[in-house]
Amino acid sequence: MKEFELIKQFFTEQAVKRKDVLLGIGDDCAVVSSTENQNIVVTTDTLVAGVHFPLGTSPKAIGHKAVAVNLSDIAAMGAKPSWISLAITLPEVNDDWLSEFCSGVFELCEYYNVQLIGGDTTQGPLSITITAQGLTPEGKYLSRSGAKSGDWLYVTGDLGDAALALQHHKEEILIENDIIEHVQDKLDFPKPRVLAGQALREYASAAIDISDGLLADLGHICQASNVGANVVLDAIPLSDAMKKSQDFEDSVQLALNGGDDYELLFTVNEDNKVGMETALSHAGTVITCIGQINPSQTISTTLNNKAVPIRSSGFQHFSAKRNT
Ligand code: ADP
Ligand code: MG
Repeated sequence: MKEFELIKQFFTEQAVKRKDVLLGIGDDCAVVSSTENQNIVVTTDTLVAGVHFPLGTSPKAIGHKAVAVNLSDIAAMGAKPSWISLAITLPEVNDDWLSEFCSGVFELCEYYNVQLIGGDTTQGPLSITITAQGLTPEGKYLSRSGAKSGDWLYVTGDLGDAALALQHHKEEILIENDIIEHVQDKLDFPKPRVLAGQALREYASAAIDISDGLLADLGHICQASNVGANVVLDAIPLSDAMKKSQDFEDSVQLALNGGDDYELLFTVNEDNKVGMETALSHAGTVITCIGQINPSQTISTTLNNKAVPIRSSGFQHFSAKRNT
């Protein structure tokens, strides 16, 4: 099958047809209409086979994850996702693989009313780059830079499950079957916190999505906001699967330094705390207060009200020591 047939067969047909897409797939560019009083937020993320997902990951999971990691960034800005573009490099054309991949992409797109408006298709080692765009009311977006000393630090969901699945995959940890199922699903099909992000728009002072580990991403908030933070280790939310399979120290280690959670980490001023908690419970999102921002410019951790040293890192490409 040639490039154009492939695009027509797999990417052109889709259930989502947004009114603000004037020209979608098929021309030199897509054309979308812009609305006054709205800002457009734009993000790009690439998934490389063997780096961002283990070789052997199901094509549906790859498609889902490629969209999910981008929507997670949109969520962290408090925006509503609207359009994506997809640049895909494939080693070969395999109809079954592409159908499954597309089912992963389009399922998430349909759920959030996001339209695929263009892309590029090339041959080479498997790699997927998605650019996602979203909308916010003018000036009302979240950023990493607004955290202030005294703000409370919150996180959505549970942390560390995806890292546990990855370690299991690398045979560094052995876990039981029912636990694998739960954590593997968290690794392969992360749920971007799109509704929570929008609900936070009115309340959070800063936000980021956790892709590289809690400590690494908290570090980004602290650096951008020129503040420090204390994390209460006893408060870190852990899934039942995690608690059943790992002791407390290993669980916390995975939660602090493991990547791929795609939960939101955000800060809230004392005055906005109750409003935020109400808004997020309406959005159906479980949140946990895990600490507080301070003026120290460093990150500290406490357990049972006592300071404990940090073994930190988080994932960075090109660093000498990789931990994922
Ligand atoms: P051009 O040569 O103008 O860059 P292409 O031949 O690469 O255009 O693509 C033709 C059309 O198909 C364009 O509208 C492009 O956006 C779209 N397209 C190509 N690859 C993909 C893809 N993987 N997903 C979605 N749309 C795609
Ligand atoms: Mg092209």
